[in-house]
Order: sequence, then structure tokens, then C-alpha cells
Amino acid sequence: MNKPACMIPWVSLWPKPNGEVYPCCTAKKPEAILGNLATDSIQDVAQSKTMKQLRKTFLSGKLDPSICSNCILRESSQGSSMRTMINEQFAHVAESALNNTEADGTYTDFGIRFMDFVWSSKCNFKCVHCNPSVSSSLASSPELRSAFGYNGPTVQTLSSLREGLKDELFTSLETVESIHFNGGEPFLIDEHFELLDRLIDLDRTQVKLWIHTNGSLLNNGKRDVITYLKKFPNSKISMSHDGHGARGEFLREGYNDSKFKEVYQELSKVAGQVRISHCIHALNIWSLTKTLDWYIENDMMAHSPSLNMVPDPGYMRLDLHGDNLLRQTGKKIDHWMRLKTGLIDDDLLSRLSNISKSLLDANRQSQVEKKDYASLRRHLETRQPLFGKDCFDLFPEYSSLFCHIGLIKPSKLSEPLNDRSI
Ligand code: SF4
Repeated sequence: MNKPACMIPWVSLWPKPNGEVYPCCTAKKPEAILGNLATDSIQDVAQSKTMKQLRKTFLSGKLDPSICSNCILRESSQGSSMRTMINEQFAHVAESALNNTEADGTYTDFGIRFMDFVWSSKCNFKCVHCNPSVSSSLASSPELRSAFGYNGPTVQTLSSLREGLKDELFTSLETVESIHFNGGEPFLIDEHFELLDRLIDLDRTQVKLWIHTNGSLLNNGKRDVITYLKKFPNSKISMSHDGHGARGEFLREGYNDSKFKEVYQELSKVAGQVRISHCIHALNIWSLTKTLDWYIENDMMAHSPSLNMVPDPGYMRLDLHGDNLLRQTGKKIDHWMRLKTGLIDDDLLSRLSNISKSLLDANRQSQVEKKDYASLRRHLETRQPLFGKDCFDLFPEYSSLFCHIGLIKPSKLSEPLNDRSI
């Protein structure tokens, strides 16, 4: 028998702050819901019908195309995914998965080895691609709540769903090998620091930490991030980013260039690895090379940035654009790579080649639905007045898309596509 196609169902699960549990953060689809921690235990969820079926599918060497479509998409466009990362990190569990999984998919040896819990939606940013169920800042804006049709609480906290849940979840610290800190903004979330305190008490400071921060702060009240990181030698930091200057501020309201640079420098002094995690979507693809230049100018390429296509929400997908813009962007990226030969590492070159190849691919299949265009218009119309700037002034190269969704008048389309304003 081959190794499982994906190790996730043997090592992890992904609860959201409202208690809903999915196999992983890239499979957040209704058909992938495994249960809810408001009522279910971790073992209930780990042995749920959906999780057992996933184990059986993965043991047959296949993926589930509906649940795993985001990994499939990422691998075809950028060569790596959550699946490839997890399979590499947990290759040592494959033998147990093969030998100890029962015919119906039950795996009684299940314990959390990769802790990827979203403990809280507490966040100080309002990112365009995010939503109020995972950002308290978005949930505190009446306009944005209405744009998303959201009527949940401003802050959602996993451990407050029921008595004793936090302690139950913390028992995973005995089996965990690696922890992903996400959010919300992880440095605003109390449970992350409590969890680190618990690991220190258990003398488990060798556990791997992977922290995804927005690069805006280095403390949580009196708790200093740098002091904590000094105690955990196996830490790596991903700093989420998708643009600098005014564009960056629009795409991630709350973002600031100089604060981001300062946080990058401070974290680099203590963490094993600090890498920018650049999200690629419909509103930043054209300026990707300019942002990469900004990283180079500001000495933020000690580890070259990861480049992650945003598969959802649908209103941020690259294929909202017509072929013309995508093809021109592909050529622009190729040109930039030629200019930087010898200045950037092979990893980045290979990631960029994959991206340009997918942009230039004449057979690219669009996954955009009609509702995604309407949704993009609704979001931009809501944000423009909040930000105080017209989208056309900020992103003139996307005028064709803005015209298509009815955000600007066709007369503005006379603006030629160039990088004059980027
Ligand atoms: S293949 Fe990807 S989406 Fe599917 S369970 Fe594995 S990591 Fe999640």
C-alpha cells in the first residue's frame, strides 16, 4: 500500500473560533465540516464519518477533489500546498497510519501532533480578503458586517464555547510536535501565551512554533513576544503581507510600512526564520514585482517570501481578470526575473516561474462564479468611503475589471495599462 495522499486526518484538525471543525485550514467547505467543539470532543471529531472517509480516500492514494480543491489548485500553480508541507513534516507517522487505520477509517491512535487551532478572532486589521468571523475589527464595523451579511459576535473565542474546553484542548500539548499560531492576530490572543507558558512548565520548549502575524505588534499587554521567542529555539515566523504603501493600507486596513519593517527586524533577531508570506490575489497581482523590489530595498529577503495564491474568497480570485491583464502580468514577472538573475534565490525563481506559467497558460480554467463579481463590487463600494480613496485612483490598472463590475464608468477605461502609478 502507498503512503496516504495527505497526512492531515492522522495528525491534525482545524477548529474555528465558533467551534466548527474542518480537516485543515485549506478545506473550509461546508461538506468538510467534521463537527463542532461546542458539543463534540476532539476524539468525536477525529473519528467522525467525514474524517474516516477522508482517511480511506487518502489511503487509496487519492485526494477528495471537492474537499481538497485548494491544495490541488495551489500545487498546480505554485508547486506546493498545505498537503506537501504536512506530508513532509509528518512522514514519520505514515507507517502507523498504514498499519493502525481500521477498514472503516477509524484511527484510535489519533492525537494532535500539528496544532492548528484558531483560538480567537481578535484582530486589529480589516483585510480585504478576510471576513468578520475571523477578524473582530471587521466584525466591529457596521458597514462591513452588513457587506458580509454577518450577525455573529464581535469577538469569537473557542475556549469560551463550553466549560472545560480549554483544558481539554490543552491536553494536546502532551502529543503536539508543531503548533501553528494563527488568528485573528496571534499576538493579541491570550491563549497563545497561556499555551507557551504551559509548554515551558512541561519542559517542552523544543516544540516547533510557526507563527503567522500581520507584523503590527510585539506584545500583548505586559507579555513581550521577543522574551517568549527566546525560550523557543524552533520558531519560524510568517509575516502576512500583500502590498506596501497606500495599496498595502487599503488591502490590510491597520497596516503600516514602517511598523512592518520594525517588527520584521525585531523578530529576525530571535526567531529561527522570518519569512514574508505574500498573498497573491486579484487586487495585487499587477504590483507583485514592485512589492518584491520593496522587500529587496528594505532588506527583507533573508528568506525569500512565500507566494500564496488566495483561492478564496471567490471575489479575490485572479481569474476575475480577463486574459489580457493576466498574460501581461505573466510577461512582466518573466521580465523581472531576467532583471534579477543572480540577485534572488532559486526558490523564489521557481515560485515565480510557476506563477508566470499559470498566468500565461492559454488553457487556464476559470473557477470564478457570477456572484464573485457582485461580491467584489459590494466589498469595494463599502471600503472606498471608509478608506477615503477611489479604487480607480489606487489601482488604475484594474479599470477593466472595475468597469466590468460596474464600479467605474467606461469613460475611465481610456487609461492605458502600465505600471506608471505602481
Ligand atoms: S489535501 Fe489539502 S485540503 Fe485536503 S486535507 Fe490535505 S491539506 Fe487539507
